[in-house]
This record gives sequence, structure tokens and C-alpha cells, in this order.
Amino acid sequence: MTDLTLYNTLMGRKEKFTPLDADNVRMYVCGPTVYDRPHIGNARAVVVYDVLFRLLKHLYPKVTYARNITDVDDKINAAAKANGEPISALTQRVTQWFHDDMDALGNLRPTIEPRATEEIAPIIALIEKIIANGCAYVAGGEVLFEVGKVGQLDEYFYGKLSGKKLEDLIAGARIGKKDHKRNPGDFVLWKPANPGDDLSSVFDSPWGAGRPGWHIECSAMSSKYLQDFRKSEDDPARYDFDIHGGGADLKFPHHENEIAQSLCGNPGSHFAHTWVHNGFVTVNGEKMSKSLGNFITVKDLLDKEVKGEVIRYALLSAKYNEPLDWTERRLEEAEKALEKLYRTVRILKEDDGSYIAVPYNHVKVLLPDDFLQTLTNDFNTYESLMYLHRQVIKIGKARSEESKLHERRILVECGKFLGFFEQNLNESHHWTKESREFHAKLANVVKTALDDTYINEQIALRTTAKKAKNFAEADRIREELAAQGIILEDSAQGTTWRKA
Ligand SMILES: [Zn+2]
Repeated sequence: MTDLTLYNTLMGRKEKFTPLDADNVRMYVCGPTVYDRPHIGNARAVVVYDVLFRLLKHLYPKVTYARNITDVDDKINAAAKANGEPISALTQRVTQWFHDDMDALGNLRPTIEPRATEEIAPIIALIEKIIANGCAYVAGGEVLFEVGKVGQLDEYFYGKLSGKKLEDLIAGARIGKKDHKRNPGDFVLWKPANPGDDLSSVFDSPWGAGRPGWHIECSAMSSKYLQDFRKSEDDPARYDFDIHGGGADLKFPHHENEIAQSLCGNPGSHFAHTWVHNGFVTVNGEKMSKSLGNFITVKDLLDKEVKGEVIRYALLSAKYNEPLDWTERRLEEAEKALEKLYRTVRILKEDDGSYIAVPYNHVKVLLPDDFLQTLTNDFNTYESLMYLHRQVIKIGKARSEESKLHERRILVECGKFLGFFEQNLNESHHWTKESREFHAKLANVVKTALDDTYINEQIALRTTAKKAKNFAEADRIREELAAQGIILEDSAQGTTWRKA
């Protein structure tokens, strides 16, 4: 089997990936906080881990991929209040948006998608263990994690993942209103409800009614769904699961805190073995933000008729752990690239059955080693896209029809593996902006022509109805056209029409 190497942020090096249990590889990725439409930065993480999920599925017999939905959070409470709607209505709607938009980009659904509000019991149980182990305390109505207590837990120390120094965090942090904290770096595990809070965000706990902090849910849910129960508590080399992924912006404080909580709550466990982080997305070199007006959601792009596969291609066109700058040019290049790939697949008239417009079906295909190596070597999706283009050249150079078909089959299989070639070949003829505009114009011309024909037909039917003294039918036709903005005018010469 081809060795998989991944850059492990926790160790600060590229490592050969060895699953804890080769019969069930387990991956956890931090999912969305459901208060707004997913933007392209959110989408990048989903697409990157989707390809990693596909790769693991290809390499191992079983993969369990858990991605949470954060449906209890201050941002959710604030958004629901601003919209004047119940929290549950907001979180349900935004969860649906997230699924719709991520499906449109060709992402497979994770194996498990736990929601924080449905996992309050394991969250409380973990907080109780952390308190019992002396790493958390109750103050000001909150349960706080005491970062100073982490010390050296096995090989882990607080700040190992993010490269932050505990002393700096303590010295650098401003003491704000939360002066009940023993240490400015301490973070919330449970916070009390505020008067008037929507009850769907309020839960009973041993510390009073309230809700969990953000970090604790990932510690609780990843362990609940992915922990390797076959190993004993006292096995010093025990990890809960193989891969923990998320955006680089989550390294601190979110992921650092996840590790600290899990190690304090489950002594002897090292939590996740390999920490994978995908890079930031900037827009024209700037950080994406609503105030800068450069905030791009997946839906914005889909509404502009940019195809899901184009967005996916653009998001995979940089190495996963490097920053990706989103520009009009990157999008245009992705459109051109896909147009070329589809054109190449379509141009061979003889169909050998290797192209079917259906999503990747998880059935293992024999992928060429050199293609797989682009991904197994720290997961270089840019190289794997380049591989597709080298196949295009190979097809062009192939001398016999047979070898053309052979190379095409490889192109289709590798492309499908990456989440492309899910469009019907006959419908894939307007990928680029120019082509889309041309087709939109054409469709308009056809529509206008059809409208004229339709109206004239209706006028003729009405005239016939009038002659037969069927005035009810004649009036019905007139009213129906009026409802569509077409006004009929009768004169001695006959009936004419105009737009209202
Ligand atoms: Zn998380």
C-alpha cells in the first residue's frame, strides 16, 4: 500500500500516517457554527477534508468521519435576536443551507454529524471529570478551565499545538470584566443563562441553568463517537482517534483548548494523534470580512451560475495548508480548466461506458500509483489537479483509439475521485462567464420568440371562442394573459396586444 504522509501540526513535522486501528480509521473535523450562510473559507475546510476522507476510504477498509454542528453559541443567540426568530428556527434553517451548499460542491456527507444541543449529557460528564481532576473551578457562576493546571501532561504542554507560550498568554492578556478568573488565559466550560434567554439554548446542569462553552463540545463529541474502546485506560500510548482537522484559525484557542480539556478529562489519553490544519482564504489579498464588503458565500457564487465543480476546483487549486487567495482570475482559471477537462472527455465519440454522470460511488477503482502519490505525499491537491491536465495531454498524443480510451478512463476515474465529472456531458457546455452570457442571451431570444407565438395562439383561440359565443372562455383567456402582463386590444381589424 502507498504510504500516506501528513503534516502533523502538533509535532511540527511531516509524518508517516499509521492508523491506530487499520480496520477503522477515525477522523474528526470541526464543523460549522450555524448562524449564517457558509462562506468560501468555510467551504475550503469542507472540500479539503472531503478529499482526505475519500483518500482514507481508498486506502483503508473503513473510515469513520465525524463533523459536528455547533448549534449553541453566543453568535447564534445574537443572530436569532437580531432576526427576531427562535433559535431553533435559525439553526435548522442554517444547517439546511450548509448541507445544500456543501452538497452543491460535491462533498460527501460525514459518517456522523453530532449536534451540540443533542450532546449536552456527555459534555456535562466531561466537565465533571475535568473538575474532579482539578483542572477546572466554578467562579462567577461559570465553570472555568484553569490553563495553569495543565502543566506537563505526558508530552503535552499548554501551547504545544499553537506555539503560544503560557507565560505570554498570562502576561499579555488584559484583565477584563471577567476578574473572577484565576488566570486571564482560563476559558469557559459552562456559562450561566441570561434572563430572557431563548429556552432552546438553556440546559440544566450541576452548576445551574446555562450552556456549554464552544471548545468543550468538540472534546466531548469526538471522544464519544471516535474513542478507541478496545484499548485499556492504562495503555500509555493510547490515542482516542487518528486525525483531527480544522482551519488554521482554529489552532488557538479552540484546538489548544480541546487538547487541554481532553487530556485533563481523560488522563492517560493523548486525544487526537495527527492534527491537520487547512490554510486561510483571503479575497484579493485581504482578509474576508463583512465590513470590507468582500465576504463571499457559496450561495452568492451559485446564484451567479458558477458551477459547484468550479468552486470546488478553485478551492483545491492550492496546497491545502497554504493560504488561498480567492480572485476572479482563480475562478476563471478553474472554469477554463474544467471546460477543457470536460471537452476532452466529450470529444471521444465512442463511449466505452467509463463516463457516467453520477457522484463518486465509493467503489474502489484502480487509481494509478502516480496519481495517488500526489495525494499521499502530504495531500497535494494542486498536484492531483495537474495530473488530470497531464492526462489531457496524453489523450491528445495517444495514437490509437484504444489507448485514447484507456487514458480517458484514467482521467475520468481520477477526476471522479476528486469530486469532478458529475455533470452530464451534454449539459456541460457553458463553464466560463463568456459562454454563460452567450447562452443566457440565446435563451432570452428563444423565450421571447416563444412568448410571441404563445400569445398569438391564445388570441386565435379567443377569437374562435368569441365566434362560438363562448364568452366565458374568451374572458378567461383575456384574464389569463392580463395576469401575465399582456393586454389585449380589440378593434375592427382584429385583436392586437401590448405589454402592460
Ligand atoms: Zn472543534
